[in-house]
Amino acid sequence: MESYKIGLVPGPVSVPEEIRRAWLNDYGSSDLEAEFFSLYHQNQTLIQELLHTHNRIIITSGEAMSILWGSLKCTLRAGEKILAVSSGMFGEGFAEMARSFGAVAEVCGFPYDEVPDPERVREHARAFRPKVLTAVHCETPSGTLTPCLAELGRVAREVGALFVVDFVASAGGAALDVDGCGIDIGLLGSQKVLSMTPSLSISSISPRAWGVIEDVNYSGYESYIGWREVPEAHYMPYTHDWHSMKALNISLNAIFSEGAANVLARHERAAKLCRDMGRSMGLTLYPKDEAWCSPTVTAFCVPDGWSWGELDGALRAEGVAFGGNYGELAGRVFRVGHMGSQADCELVEHGMSILAKILRG
Ligand SMILES: *Cc1c(COP(=O)(O)O)cnc(C)c1O
Repeated sequence: MESYKIGLVPGPVSVPEEIRRAWLNDYGSSDLEAEFFSLYHQNQTLIQELLHTHNRIIITSGEAMSILWGSLKCTLRAGEKILAVSSGMFGEGFAEMARSFGAVAEVCGFPYDEVPDPERVREHARAFRPKVLTAVHCETPSGTLTPCLAELGRVAREVGALFVVDFVASAGGAALDVDGCGIDIGLLGSQKVLSMTPSLSISSISPRAWGVIEDVNYSGYESYIGWREVPEAHYMPYTHDWHSMKALNISLNAIFSEGAANVLARHERAAKLCRDMGRSMGLTLYPKDEAWCSPTVTAFCVPDGWSWGELDGALRAEGVAFGGNYGELAGRVFRVGHMGSQADCELVEHGMSILAKILRG
């Protein structure tokens, strides 16, 4: 398969050449070399700064789904309760995953084109008393950003639940204050704003969450057990992916040399341009309120008179790749991914102009 000239899928995003360079070197065995642990530590510190947290950062190998599973399996035993706040597919997914290993899950659900209402979550949580409350910052399939994380964090505290948040598709590209929102376990992947391959998963874990993790003591590849003392212990549960760790370091240093606030502003600009161009060609945003749109991805309704298959085919013939959708949004909603390396006004303008040309016929 050839690469598309204008890649605007909502992850994995295009990997810039400076990050690809990490794979041109050979490195030693990550579990034996002091240099690896020093690189790991540098990345932990940079991630803490990016997420605004003092919590410990755990960097594991594997795609982000590994830590969505891990965060649940490490904090819930069969029979224990989780309340999944959901305004989309990933929100719902937390409940399904937890049920698969016997946890008791309820969903506090909202329409996919809206964002959660914290008051309704509060009522539900007070009645249900979950051990874990989950939320999703950017619901990538819906193109929405949950604005009430701090309020949801307060709800979790009020009922004594751990607050687990999937910010895989937002952190770095949308403002996020992990400690300010009381996020006990925060989940991030490498193939979205960090512009890497889908090879690393990053978790921020609060002292309160460590207490629960050590009590549950889950063992498995995706367990957090054994990671708390990395790098100090100079020991890891498995041999790490040194190339990706190096790529992460290049990516984080690029963010901080641009300025984390400038990176957020670049995402805002690309997102606004995308929405404005979409509106001017007569497209309807999928989120009901423009204020709920994520700065990292824009979801539009497939326009009348087109099937997604036809539109996608016409775009791909011009070298443009947008994202389709899944589940109940399949064929109805498509996405423009402008996160990380793709939060680029020139790229968005180019892709959206081709869409406009196709729609004009
Ligand atoms: C991309 C993403 C993940 C990781 O899941 P994949 O579908 O395997 O890429 C998890 N949560 C959110 C919100 C994401 O956007």
